[in-house]
Amino acid sequence: MTQRDPRYDILFESVRIGPVTAKNRFFQVPHCNGMGVSFPKAMAAMRGTKAEGGWAVVCTEETDFHPSNDFSPLAEGRLWDYKDVAVMATMTDAVHRHGALAGVELAYTGHRDANLYSREVPLSVTGLPVAINYPVQARAMDGSDIKQFRRWHVEAIGRALQAGFDLIYIYVRAGASLPGNFLSRSLNQRSDEYGGGFVNRARLFKEMLEDALETAEGRAAIAVRFTIDDEPDEADEFFSCFGEQPDLWDVNIAEWRKDSLPSRFGAEAWQEPLVARVKQLTTKPVVGVGRFTSPDTMVSQVKRGILDFIGAARPSIADPFLPRKVEQGRVEDIRECIGCNICVSSDFTMVPMRCTQNPTAGEEFRKGWHPERIAPAATDKTVLVVGAGPAGLECAHALGKRGYHVVLAEARDGIGGRVSIESRLPGFNEWARVRDYRQQQLHSLAGVELYTQSALGVEHISELAPDEVVIATGARWRHDGMGRHHSGVIPGTNEAHVATPDDILQGMTPRGPVVIFDDDCYYVAGAIAEKLASENHTVTLVTPASDVASWANNTLERHFVEERLHDLGVTVIEKHDVGMLSADAVEIHHIHSGRRTEIELGTWVPVTMRDPVDDLFHALSAAQMNEPDGAPWRITRIGDCLSPSTIAAAVYAGHRFARELDAEPHPGVGFERE
Ligand code: ADP
Ligand code: SF4
Repeated sequence: MTQRDPRYDILFESVRIGPVTAKNRFFQVPHCNGMGVSFPKAMAAMRGTKAEGGWAVVCTEETDFHPSNDFSPLAEGRLWDYKDVAVMATMTDAVHRHGALAGVELAYTGHRDANLYSREVPLSVTGLPVAINYPVQARAMDGSDIKQFRRWHVEAIGRALQAGFDLIYIYVRAGASLPGNFLSRSLNQRSDEYGGGFVNRARLFKEMLEDALETAEGRAAIAVRFTIDDEPDEADEFFSCFGEQPDLWDVNIAEWRKDSLPSRFGAEAWQEPLVARVKQLTTKPVVGVGRFTSPDTMVSQVKRGILDFIGAARPSIADPFLPRKVEQGRVEDIRECIGCNICVSSDFTMVPMRCTQNPTAGEEFRKGWHPERIAPAATDKTVLVVGAGPAGLECAHALGKRGYHVVLAEARDGIGGRVSIESRLPGFNEWARVRDYRQQQLHSLAGVELYTQSALGVEHISELAPDEVVIATGARWRHDGMGRHHSGVIPGTNEAHVATPDDILQGMTPRGPVVIFDDDCYYVAGAIAEKLASENHTVTLVTPASDVASWANNTLERHFVEERLHDLGVTVIEKHDVGMLSADAVEIHHIHSGRRTEIELGTWVPVTMRDPVDDLFHALSAAQMNEPDGAPWRITRIGDCLSPSTIAAAVYAGHRFARELDAEPHPGVGFERE
């Protein structure tokens, strides 16, 4: 085994956190995952895998601890009674098995949540409507409520200890936690001893911290997750009162979209200017995040006294074995997070987490997929993979790891398919890591032969005569507006000057003014609008959705897209559909009122849907039918060629083919149920 680079030794120093010791500085901070209370075995297996990958501390997601504050319908953690203790103990066991510490992020969100499951009246600092979109109000807590709440908190700490947690969090964030709500000057409208000046507003936190330290009695460390930019001018006073009391400070940023900043809108370690001062305010260890994937950046954070622990949510999802790889001197094998936030979308959609870079994320329990281990080849088959986009690349990579002989053929000069093309859009450069990681891995796989500039047809494949053919030839954008809102062609398409997203991405210069029709509602339309507006085109973006890039709410990108388009002077017309096109105009109408408007048109860019590039698949299937005894090879189409979807879905499809080749099918529904 290779040895780690001594430059990284500092990352493997053990660090005391009050009564417990972390074996190194890699710290998986709390993160949601769409599993939690709904899919707890999946959650435990996912956390255990990270502990196995070398993270010294592995935490849960936000965990509700009393029915008076339930996070449903979100699938977060739960610690209400002994039943939850047993569930959480499976997570702590999985983490302890690999010598890591297990942390629980107890949270009480006050008026953020509506208690849809428990149907209890929400409690908060002030009587306010709940923050989630539900017509319910929270009730202002009185003195006896506060006493009762403290008792619930103490009891929850008792359950956390019973479940085997080594670290217990108190979360302080305005709008998302009760002590944070009390601390907030804008949310706290009280006139009792818990409202008014700083000392009063901080009283609930002070009491919770004292209760926690007393209850834990040194059996677990008490961590405080503190949102540094909630009341920035009071941070010094806050730390002068409490800086030395908890065993650890976990510092984050108020808005989630900025805390889990998409890579399109900021680089690794972007939080540094905000969190750097915390180390000056306390001698206790500090953990913070920054989508850290470079060990050099991590070392720099520690050496310059910014952080003691390298906190990670997304980098630990994309590569649960990141610490192990640094330790073993295999830095080039790190599967770097691309900052796309597909993982975050699983929280909003309440399904087990998925990841663009790591196809095994969320599959640890139900499919038994391990991020680093894969069964050896069961036969000596040769597999031909056609198309080196995300699906084909991952398929060849995983098959190569199994030990199959793989021929990967790509029509273009370079590999990466849509990822190589889309990563040229403004801000998307880190998305190319989907290609770069796999390209790097292929170098060490002797059984994989890669041929670029190799557009394969039926005759080539017949000549090669492989045992298996995998068609991963991708998809192309439609030019006629067919999509979610139009099950057919939009009238007038033939008269208008049309540029598809593929045309623009491949360098076509449109003639202005440009009208983009976004019926896809994810990132492509907004990114093309940004690109063209930055190149001084006059751009209008029309969408039937209520918001621009509406699905990108789930990836925390939407607000940024809106801000950017606004700054660039793009005209955004929401809740409008396209009715008809001509050579110089687009007729649009309001989706509810039907009121019609005409806008001037130079080039129409429909971002509506993609068609699979599956002609090779069909030609090959037909050729096989014509063979007297059938061709010897099996043909499978995967990724966008089967059905266009996200890059994450394409990578998953490629990986899945590789896992399932020559393997016994999983009985039942195809995976393990909870
Ligand atoms: P996916 O997301 O499913 O991987 P992409 O569109 O990103 O799909 O990638 C498909 C790749 O397949 C592209 O790089 C394209 O050039 C390549 N391709 C398409 N047809 C052929 C073919 N007949 N022979 C070889 N490569 C092909
Ligand atoms: Fe990173 Fe995207 Fe994976 Fe999330 S889904 S961990 S942002 S690569």
